[in-house]
Amino acid sequence: ATRPGRTPRDVATHCPYCALQCGMTLREDDGVVTVHPRQFPTNRGGLCQKGWTAAELLDHPERLTTPLVRDPATGELRPASWDAALDRVVAGIRAVQRDAGRDAVAVFGGGGLTNEKAYALGKFARIGLRTRHIDYNGRFCMSSAAAAGMRAFGIDRGLPFPLADLGRADTLLLVGANPAETMPPLVRWLTEQRRAGGRLIVVDPRVTATARQADLHLQPLPGTDLAVANALLHIALTEGWVDRAYVAERTTGFEAVRRGVAAWWPARAEQLSGVPVADLEATARALGTGGRVIILTARGAEQHAKGVDTVTAYVNLALALGLPGRAGSGYGCLTGQGNGQGGREHGQKADQLPGYRRIDDPAARAHVAGVWGVPADELPGPGVPAYQLLDSLGTPDGPRALLVFGSNPVVSAPRAARIEGRLRDLDLLVVADLLLSETAALADVVLPTAQWAEEDGTMTNLEGRVLRRRALRPPPPGVRTDLAIIADLAARLAATEAPGARPEAVAAARFPTDPAAVFAELRRASAGGAADYAGISWERIDAADGVYWPCPSGDGPDTPRLFADRFATPDGRARFHPVDHRPAAEEVCATYPLHFTTGRVLAQYQSGTQTRRVPALRRAAPEAFVELHPDLAARLGVDDGDPVRVTSRRGELCAPARLSAGIRPDTVFAPFHYAGAGRANSVTNDAVDPISGMPEFKICAVRVEKA
Ligand code: SF4
Repeated sequence: ATRPGRTPRDVATHCPYCALQCGMTLREDDGVVTVHPRQFPTNRGGLCQKGWTAAELLDHPERLTTPLVRDPATGELRPASWDAALDRVVAGIRAVQRDAGRDAVAVFGGGGLTNEKAYALGKFARIGLRTRHIDYNGRFCMSSAAAAGMRAFGIDRGLPFPLADLGRADTLLLVGANPAETMPPLVRWLTEQRRAGGRLIVVDPRVTATARQADLHLQPLPGTDLAVANALLHIALTEGWVDRAYVAERTTGFEAVRRGVAAWWPARAEQLSGVPVADLEATARALGTGGRVIILTARGAEQHAKGVDTVTAYVNLALALGLPGRAGSGYGCLTGQGNGQGGREHGQKADQLPGYRRIDDPAARAHVAGVWGVPADELPGPGVPAYQLLDSLGTPDGPRALLVFGSNPVVSAPRAARIEGRLRDLDLLVVADLLLSETAALADVVLPTAQWAEEDGTMTNLEGRVLRRRALRPPPPGVRTDLAIIADLAARLAATEAPGARPEAVAAARFPTDPAAVFAELRRASAGGAADYAGISWERIDAADGVYWPCPSGDGPDTPRLFADRFATPDGRARFHPVDHRPAAEEVCATYPLHFTTGRVLAQYQSGTQTRRVPALRRAAPEAFVELHPDLAARLGVDDGDPVRVTSRRGELCAPARLSAGIRPDTVFAPFHYAGAGRANSVTNDAVDPISGMPEFKICAVRVEKA
């Protein structure tokens, strides 16, 4: 990235992409920005190719540097001034709200937004727009693990222990996680673990880059991870490996789980999942007789209509073995998006206020309303989860205007063609982004935003460690930060008339544009909540390698490890919940005889808005593909590289075939990073988990044919 004429400088910051938040130094010298790996506890000097190339987007030729407004005469997006663009947004919002009420406007956020932006966006929705409709794309990421953690432990932090614990585990069980492609520097911990004599066991329907490193790979049919977990607990019970003292002292509800898993004898699990009894027994033995044991889940286990119950089955297993809170052991979730953890703590979820408070809790409402300077009874109630929100857009009872910050649901939402249609039906679609994503291309107004290296802020990584993101240089002319856009919109809205609005309330509760001021307010709003940031200052983060929440006092310690003495439930005990296998929302049949599953590749990130535009990453992973077993390909008459069509009840995906003996012959796979004909989410199922709202990205029924 080049911008000549600036003084050379280095800035210690973190990668803009995934939840590992690798430490990096950005160096600007004679206008050229380069990335240098930095020693940081999660990446220890490593970066993946996404991180190495992150600076290439700073001066990318496709970068947006002026607002765009759709010309009603031609239907095209045309450059506009900020005044014209924001006036158009405010006029559109007020027209919709006058006609259909405050909830007719919705906000959709992202798990890549800084803590400050996530906080400001939630506040803006509740007291700027006074709508109950806000949710974010993290609902598509780790919401099932979050819900399972809340109901078992009373708190949701991805890893309740430092990442370094992985390197010391005697047995590490990864379920539906492929860090070798999603977070390559994390693999150093796995290598270290195995060099020290530890055992790595991977549960995944594909022989992934991670599974290839495992001592044991269980390759279940997609959608049967829950049955595998129940069978493992069944074996542990039979063999006497359950930690009875721990269960008695630190948990409640075990008896119902014990009765439930009694029916999951290993042969039954083998019949359902295809995992041999011998492998189930070997896994249970490693978990039940190992010293330090860690069980981790990720999207493969979580992105199901039974995702919460699937994660709960692994939490039950961990609790029965006495792992959570024991030194070097435990259960955790590998969060995906850069601020997937912090993004779910500060109020951009439909049911939540800052500090991980429930929006329907009167005490929480009173506390946050006090910080915001509004009466508590003026805060809207809970909205609906992301997919339900997106699927209601433009319908008679749904919102008619949507503001999107840092998300690209046209590519990332399940049943994407339907969601694309919903977005087209809106009276007003506003997208704030740095590039013209597929969602932005549909918008009535596009607002160009600053990038990660152009503004300060904080992120919270997969360990619950709060980090500093530091600005290297200001945004280019014509570009504004999300915080500045939110503040400007709030001020303009406050100056307008609307049914039931109290402009003075909005004006009184200011929307600072300085991220340090927003963070100071966030600390007060989070104080006393589960995710308590009250004692975390930027200075304290600077003085250490980040600060772990909860951290209620500036004088007191932070919390790298949770659950050593008690869980975050009223009685301090963890909760078992009996869970049982149930079929996927859509099963294979004569017309759609194959299972379809989705995932990631190393060189792309999320919906690909950014990484598909980086030349080196585009060269490494230029297009979608459909992975299928050679036996299946032979039956279909497909050779490697042939274009194939994958069709479900919802749509189709066309991409070249990639033959691999590492996938089950009854299952096909495609990465979800791509748009157009290669859009995997054209095919995926929009059935959702009843508790978390997580869509069933990881399994549906398809047929495959040569295109
Ligand atoms: Fe690290 Fe993730 Fe960035 Fe890769 S994408 S450099 S693993 S933070």
